[in-house]
Amino acid sequence: MTLDDLTGRIEEFLAANDPAATDRLDFLRARYDAGLAWVYFPVGFGGLGLSRGRQPEVDRLFAEAGAPDNNPSANVIGLGMAGPTILACGTEEQKRRFLRPLWTGEEIWCQLFSEPGAGSDLANVSTRAVRDGDEWVVNGQKVWTSSAHLAQFAILLARTDAAIPKHRGMTFFLIDMTQPGVEVRPLRQITGEAEFNEVFLTDARVPDTQRLGAEGDGWRVANTTLNTERVAIGGKDSAREDGMIGVVARTWRANPERRTPELHDRLLRLWVDAEVARLTGARLQQKLAKGMPGPEGSAMKLIFAKCAQQLSGLELELLGAQGLRYSDWTMVRPESVDFNGRDAGYRYLRAKGNSIEGGTSEILRNIVAERVLGLPAEPRADKDRPWKEVAR
Ligand SMILES: Cc1cc2nc3c(=O)[nH]c(=O)nc-3n(C[C@H](O)[C@H](O)[C@H](O)COP(=O)(O)OP(=O)(O)OC[C@H]3O[C@@H](n4cnc5c(N)ncnc54)[C@H](O)[C@@H]3O)c2cc1C
Repeated sequence: MTLDDLTGRIEEFLAANDPAATDRLDFLRARYDAGLAWVYFPVGFGGLGLSRGRQPEVDRLFAEAGAPDNNPSANVIGLGMAGPTILACGTEEQKRRFLRPLWTGEEIWCQLFSEPGAGSDLANVSTRAVRDGDEWVVNGQKVWTSSAHLAQFAILLARTDAAIPKHRGMTFFLIDMTQPGVEVRPLRQITGEAEFNEVFLTDARVPDTQRLGAEGDGWRVANTTLNTERVAIGGKDSAREDGMIGVVARTWRANPERRTPELHDRLLRLWVDAEVARLTGARLQQKLAKGMPGPEGSAMKLIFAKCAQQLSGLELELLGAQGLRYSDWTMVRPESVDFNGRDAGYRYLRAKGNSIEGGTSEILRNIVAERVLGLPAEPRADKDRPWKEVAR
């Protein structure tokens, strides 16, 4: 489909669904049904099977027409991780049931992966799922679960066989977060907010029809999620038109009295780094047009975390004493995560988490070394031993 054809299709859609006169949800559902939601998804699931590179243009045309958006900052995990994983590994029925309300934002998603004993070593999860007829019964504790306080559904990684080596004994589920067996408690972070939570699962139930992939295939499915997660975290800000440097450059322009040759030198060095990250992100997005992200996304996320931390640190220095002020440390449970609409202090503190979330920078370096550069693997003594026999 040429760009002209696509533009024509959007114009036709907008003529038939006037954004000013259509209910917000009706508009979003109709946009999904017309294949104009994520245009790189297949026909029938909100897309037209086009290249991913077309998406920014589509979003721009809808925004210019005053169309409502699907509030992406409230459903980062749904759109960035759960959606692509369901598309890649789900049955037709699962795709039909979950993708539409996920894209419109009617159903918010969270990610039940990390546990107190399983973070970097995610394959060590000990939350158990035991088969009971047509259902699974889930017991365990998850931690650092972003948006669990808002979510209707979660992608869940649980252990279904403890007698075999850890990577083979896990299964991936789509679990209802609103049931009585799911308890969500806030965890306050360095920013003062509780963006994430701890989640206790006590005899929570999930139908077998909401198992994603085969029993025991959870590690493969989870890796699909992790690869898309790294691109979602690392690619989004890096690929923005003004890049990550935009906010800091504005602060630089607004504070001429604080400029020193040393700060100027650092700003320009960071500009180069941020520009390299932006261009790498753009190249990665083009590669993604041809399929699912591979381990290369880890490098993108690694660079993003470093740039975001150095830039937000430089911004505080540029602001001098004013940079030490913090607008509000009230404990809130935010309804969306908007990094750039906040003050410099928030950006500085929140960026600390960038080198932890979605895989720590140390782990990402391991992935790049082993799976991209082909260097020798770390020794992994527990790899072939039954999970239940490994000391924890
Ligand atoms: C803002 C934020 C949001 C998050 N949201 C979610 C979420 O929604 N859902 C979810 O499931 N999780 C979430 N997480 C959790 C995140 O995925 C984990 O924190 C992360 O994987 C690290 O695990 P850990 O905290 O257990 O640290 P650990 O794994 O205990 O690591 C501790 C330290 O040891 C280092 N280390 C560990 N193993 C190695 C190794 N083999 N080689 C070198 N160094 C190593 C690590 O790099 C780190 O510095 C979130 C985290 C943050 C900060």
